[in-house]
Amino acid sequence: MINGILAAEEKLASCVAKAVRTYPRQITAAIASLLLFAGGGAFAVASLPDASDLPVMQVLEAVTPHPIDDQTEALESFNYTLFRSDQTRASDTAEALLRRLGIADDAAAAFVRGNAAARSALLSRPGRTVTAEASQDSRLERLSARFIPDGEGGLQRVTVERVGPAFTVKTESETLTTSSRLASGIIRSSFFAATDAANIPDAVASQLADIFSGDVDFRSLQKGDRFAVVYESFDAEGQVLRTGRVLAAEFESGGKTHQAMWFQEAGQKGSYYRPSGESLRKAFLTSPVQYSRISSGFAMRMHPIMNDWRQHKGIDFAAASGTAVRSVGDGVVEFAGRQSGYGNIVIINHRNNQSTAYAHLSRIDVREGQSVNQGQFIGAVGATGWATGPHLHFEFRVNGEFRDPTTIAQQDGGTPISANARLAFARAAKSVKSELAAASTVLQASAN
Ligand SMILES: [Zn+2]
Repeated sequence: MINGILAAEEKLASCVAKAVRTYPRQITAAIASLLLFAGGGAFAVASLPDASDLPVMQVLEAVTPHPIDDQTEALESFNYTLFRSDQTRASDTAEALLRRLGIADDAAAAFVRGNAAARSALLSRPGRTVTAEASQDSRLERLSARFIPDGEGGLQRVTVERVGPAFTVKTESETLTTSSRLASGIIRSSFFAATDAANIPDAVASQLADIFSGDVDFRSLQKGDRFAVVYESFDAEGQVLRTGRVLAAEFESGGKTHQAMWFQEAGQKGSYYRPSGESLRKAFLTSPVQYSRISSGFAMRMHPIMNDWRQHKGIDFAAASGTAVRSVGDGVVEFAGRQSGYGNIVIINHRNNQSTAYAHLSRIDVREGQSVNQGQFIGAVGATGWATGPHLHFEFRVNGEFRDPTTIAQQDGGTPISANARLAFARAAKSVKSELAAASTVLQASAN
């Protein structure tokens, strides 16, 4: 057993050493994390934060009592502040939130209740971390919350501060720290069980399924199939606030290894490539329903429902009501509204007189004339129109004629790497290989 562990560590060290030569700065941090968290899971490759960015901690200390006069004198000359943090709750009133933070201050509560910016930052959204600074008589000195509004865009910090007898509020934008996270997993029962075991967020798992949709059949993965992934993570004060794009990934299935990397040329849309330079981008996604924890359960049994598409004019995707529906390609919304049998339907025009239709939607999130990108959410699965249960009816038309939707994903949609970018691409591909090698050691360490 000990030998096994040593062998694993040696293997790990040699893989990392290879990576270190290519990526010295980031990987040094990675080794530290790897050695600390060799038990597995995702870990971050991030530079150390500035001391000024570190979270304020509440420190409790035992104090030897001094004579009372000394204490009073000390308190007068040393006006101390108490810090306390807590999470906002759905049921919070201004008073309840402040009370949990150890603050008894009616004026502060009235200000939070009455000020629109403070109220919307602190009272309507559960799960935000709020830090309060209180004076020794439990009055509020400063209250601040950091969050990403609606899970998108940059980080915001809202601060309520005492200024003399009154309060002010200010909203500041902050930059998130971007780091790369490395993780890997091995399929033992299902894909999502494997990504859970590796602490990989669902948003990253769904991207993996899209990236490798042309190479790997995610509906019939085999025990022992494995993957490694490098993905962006947006953090503040060491806390993951949002995950971003998959930067590089590897999938080994049925004895074949597939690799993909994100690459973006100046002035162009980025996309995924094989390290050899071949584009993985297709003109259309395989599925208008994102491969998700919800849809994958249906997928195992009946996804998509294969009616004769010629009679039916399309195919049906079984998915729970409310599941997000996405445009399979770049295009412009031609129609968004109600049509008798289709219920709520969105029709999108793509290049070369091709169009796609998405019917029975419970919700429509786009309007006519709007440009949409491949993968952009356009509505949600429902059962409007002539539908017996919730599902997505999906059609593919060329010059107005119905075509077999299962052929849609075969068209190439990628642009080859330009001559100017080839050198940069080759360099990126080399780092990607080191990163993926480092990512797969997370698995090797935990599997041994
Ligand atoms: Zn149908």
